[in-house]
Amino acid sequence: MTTAQVINPATEQVVARVELVGEAETDAAIERARRAGVAWREVAPGDRARLLRRFAEAVEADLEALAQLEVANSGHTIGNARWEAGNVRDVLHYSAGMPERLLGNQIPVAGGVDVTFHEPLGVVGVIVPWNFPMPIAAWGFGPALAAGNTVVLKPAELTPLTAIRLGELALEAGLPEHVFQVLPGKGSVVGQRFVTHPAVRKVVFTGSTEVGTQIMAGCARQVKRVTLELGGKSANIVFADADLARAAATAPYGVFDNAGQDCCARSRILVQRSVFDKFLELLEPAVRGVKVGDPAHEDTEMGPLISAAHRERVAAFIEPSTKVAFTGERPDGPGFWYPPTVVLPDAPTDRVLTEEVFGPVVAVLPFEDEADAVRIANDTEYGLSGSIWTSDVGRALRVSRAVEAGNLSVNSHSSVRYWTPFGGFKQSGLGRELGPDAARAFTETKNVFIATQ
Ligand code: NAD
Repeated sequence: MTTAQVINPATEQVVARVELVGEAETDAAIERARRAGVAWREVAPGDRARLLRRFAEAVEADLEALAQLEVANSGHTIGNARWEAGNVRDVLHYSAGMPERLLGNQIPVAGGVDVTFHEPLGVVGVIVPWNFPMPIAAWGFGPALAAGNTVVLKPAELTPLTAIRLGELALEAGLPEHVFQVLPGKGSVVGQRFVTHPAVRKVVFTGSTEVGTQIMAGCARQVKRVTLELGGKSANIVFADADLARAAATAPYGVFDNAGQDCCARSRILVQRSVFDKFLELLEPAVRGVKVGDPAHEDTEMGPLISAAHRERVAAFIEPSTKVAFTGERPDGPGFWYPPTVVLPDAPTDRVLTEEVFGPVVAVLPFEDEADAVRIANDTEYGLSGSIWTSDVGRALRVSRAVEAGNLSVNSHSSVRYWTPFGGFKQSGLGRELGPDAARAFTETKNVFIATQ
């Protein structure tokens, strides 16, 4: 087996060495998952629920250790990391409510009874990116297990540690062996095998649009079910009638949270021209005030980027001709730091405006009126999230309906609640995770007619 080093992005120190799973081990794990599924799908709904609840309680008992592990592996701020581990616990508790509520229909027919069942798919492969290793994993495995599937999960190469720990916690909580297996390894090996192995009946992929399109094409060969959660270039639209002080004070957190490595980052701020200068004046102290530094400190608001290579990629978006309005702070010394950066693009074709930076860089640009705001917001192939700041309720609703994105918030920057649906329009994805229908995405509907005559 080959091993990979896991690096702390805030210190550049090696924190662990992880053995990478190869193709033969992946095949063996998928076969174990397939066999385990035969018994798992027959576990009584109430018992499956109880096991998921125990898994949630095991995560709760280990919450601080999981959070510290994420700080060391991913450079997430300790506040964020605690939220992320808590989100896994909550998704598991919510999923524990699903087995007994996976209701079918009874449909009126002549000469008999017609009922529908929601059957588990079999083995589900979950492929996770490095930016939110814990929550994104749980959004897949929680509802998939609840619906009676077994799960093989591949964490990102850079961030496997919390996923490995979650696999141990599942066993400690009493989940039967091989029902939930974590397979650290390369995307091109383990992830690719989830796509090509016929026993894997669904792939849940979160990551770049580039890899997502390959996954979709690969799954098409076996008509394999797929959920895709891909990139974003979300707009934060600020109208002149908004509470400008609040819009400006919160805008940095809508994009720089997790150092901008967030598919929901509001990386384009569209501001009505009549208040454009005023908004920038208010934004500057807010950006300079973002506390960037050691992610383990309780009051740190932004940590480092995930790797040296990623920092180079982010930095390349700032070309010599790019107008930088102002930047925030960044510590000196080791660590993959990049300061919060505000740019004023020259043209609608600027890369910084059209591509996902996935770092702490935000473009601010003016718009004329409501129609112009909607046009600019939709001028992207992405459609994941966005914010609308206005005091006019009618406008808030009109613009919410007009913006082509899956998750919008008015006078706030929230995107994710485990009990509401999450996913993207256009090239931001396919399908939805979380929310009341989450388990349904891991089932096939079967219709059965029973003759009574
Ligand atoms: P990535 O696409 O490079 O990798 C994601 C995962 O896919 C990793 O586990 C990787 O090992 C695996 N992978 C890579 N090549 C593969 C292949 N050929 N076959 C199977 N698996 C393969 O993405 P990343 O750089 O880890 O994450 C950043 C991207 O994820 C950004 O574009 C971001 O917007 C997106 N993202 C989307 C959401 C969402 O919910 N929409 C959430 C978080 C991140």
